[in-house]
Amino acid sequence: MLDFRVTARDGNARAGEIVTRHGTVLTPAFVTVGTLASVKSLAPRDLENIGTQIIIANTYHLHLQPGEDIIAEAGGLHRFMGWDGPLMTDSGGFQIFSHGAGKEHGVGKIASIFPEESTRGGHLRKKPGKSLVTVDEEGVDFISYLDGSKHRFTPENVIEVQAKIGADIILPLDECTSPLHDEQYTRSAMERTHRWAVRALEAFSRYGKSHQSLFGIVQGGAFEGLRKKSVEFISQLGFRGLAIGGSLGKSKDDMHKVLEWTLPCLPDHKPRHLLGIGEVDNIFQAVKRGIDTFDCVTPTRLARTGTLLVKNAPTHRIHILNSRFRQEHEPIQPSCRCYTCLNFSRAYLRHLFAAREPLAMALATIHNLSFMERLMAQIRSSIIDGTFTQLMAQWLS
Ligand SMILES: [Zn+2]
Repeated sequence: MLDFRVTARDGNARAGEIVTRHGTVLTPAFVTVGTLASVKSLAPRDLENIGTQIIIANTYHLHLQPGEDIIAEAGGLHRFMGWDGPLMTDSGGFQIFSHGAGKEHGVGKIASIFPEESTRGGHLRKKPGKSLVTVDEEGVDFISYLDGSKHRFTPENVIEVQAKIGADIILPLDECTSPLHDEQYTRSAMERTHRWAVRALEAFSRYGKSHQSLFGIVQGGAFEGLRKKSVEFISQLGFRGLAIGGSLGKSKDDMHKVLEWTLPCLPDHKPRHLLGIGEVDNIFQAVKRGIDTFDCVTPTRLARTGTLLVKNAPTHRIHILNSRFRQEHEPIQPSCRCYTCLNFSRAYLRHLFAAREPLAMALATIHNLSFMERLMAQIRSSIIDGTFTQLMAQWLS
């Protein structure tokens, strides 16, 4: 069970502490994605050096491989992956979505968040395909993308699976809708997710481990009436924290609206997680409105393609394969104190990516995750000092 307290406020932005049995997370915090019980290309030792506070793995993926029983045999996920710090697991609702409605609508994981902006960062709409998922009142049937085998998730067995995996913070099964679903469908999916939330809490009282906390997920798509209904319903249940999930609309403006409808209605004394958001401008916009934690694949995924996060570049990114870096012998960002910036140059990193050396991915990931931890530390200090607005203006100008 976790403890949470708010330690400072600046407007609606808040700094706080989430205390778990595996350590304390200072918020606002970035939750690093380790889908398959690994932050791709890095060892836990690297993550400790970076200052990673918390990792999120994925129930859907771990259920398909290696299976929760093997993780339980190993003594739980912390021991299995050699990470003794705080851990979260997502329920798999979003993955089921991306293989279901997401596939039918031709929207992928990232494009699905903001379809109208989907060409940004190269995330193009995909060709529509056949859904691998059927949803009914009891649960979800899906076909493994690995071997075509059939699986079924229910609100109850997703809690059992996560109890075996053993992360500190776990999430209930939800039905994540696409931004292309209409209000009627989004409403019926939300109402089903609410019924599943009640069943998940009941299952958690039977299967949940004493160190675990179950967070609720607010749904409702980009519809004001539905979001308000969902936040009211989910908040009055006994969840230890709340996550905002589902479609956040078709643009960043829609996302801001969803946050403005939702956040003022959330209980102040519980931590608030925003699922799947982690770009610099979105982080500032969400913290400003009162979000405590985020998770997003962007920093690690970008790193593996040679896109590095730096302050003061357009959209805070440079692409290291650009020929202008061939003879640049300074670090990615001279002010960065990460292992990569302290020891290697832009020219060397460009060479590693061009030569497809595996070290390229590790060094780039170390830098991008260090960038995120430093950004979050600056945000926390600015909330404590009452200068968050100035910091946000400085970063987003
Ligand atoms: Zn660096």
